[in-house]
Amino acid sequence: MKRKPINTEDMRDLIADILNVLDPDAGRAGLEETPARFLKAWEHWTSGYDVDAEALLKTFEDGAEDYDEMVFVGAIPFYSTCEHHLAPFFGVAHVAYIPDGRIVGLSKIPRLIDAFSRRLSVQERITTQVADTMQDVLRPKGVAVCLQARHMCVESRGVAKAGTVTTTAAMRGVFKEKAHAKDEFYRMISNAKGQGLA
Ligand code: ZN
Repeated sequence: MKRKPINTEDMRDLIADILNVLDPDAGRAGLEETPARFLKAWEHWTSGYDVDAEALLKTFEDGAEDYDEMVFVGAIPFYSTCEHHLAPFFGVAHVAYIPDGRIVGLSKIPRLIDAFSRRLSVQERITTQVADTMQDVLRPKGVAVCLQARHMCVESRGVAKAGTVTTTAAMRGVFKEKAHAKDEFYRMISNAKGQGLA
């Protein structure tokens, strides 16, 4: 589903209207270019809608047919927007899979995270989408995904404390069935943290 152009005159007028409601002095110079800047920023923050996540994984690497141990990519930074408040949430993603004949270029995994996080979303959905896309396209023996994030809609409003971290996880295949595979995944996350990576 292709989305509509964002940075149009109509949209800039709409944002200027919103600024007028939010700020009693919306005519000042500092806000003059804000509608255009806002829309440009939002184009980026929602650019994941323009990415075909499955196509991203479909170019397999050759030469790893015999590799059947875990591939772990940890502490991948991500930034997303909560669909309930349009507030940022951000943190790190950890992804592991055990190949079954197909491996994917390591840079594809952060790009997959971006494809799903640069949308209006919730942390739980990004976690599931990353796991399911990898499972569907790569057909590995298993996939594990864990996201740890701070949510501005939680921290800057209401009762929650600053610095609260929300953790979500999705396990597929052997990571769901075998406790030792899941344990190994969480051990690798701790190791990544020990090295100052998360
Ligand atoms: Zn929210």
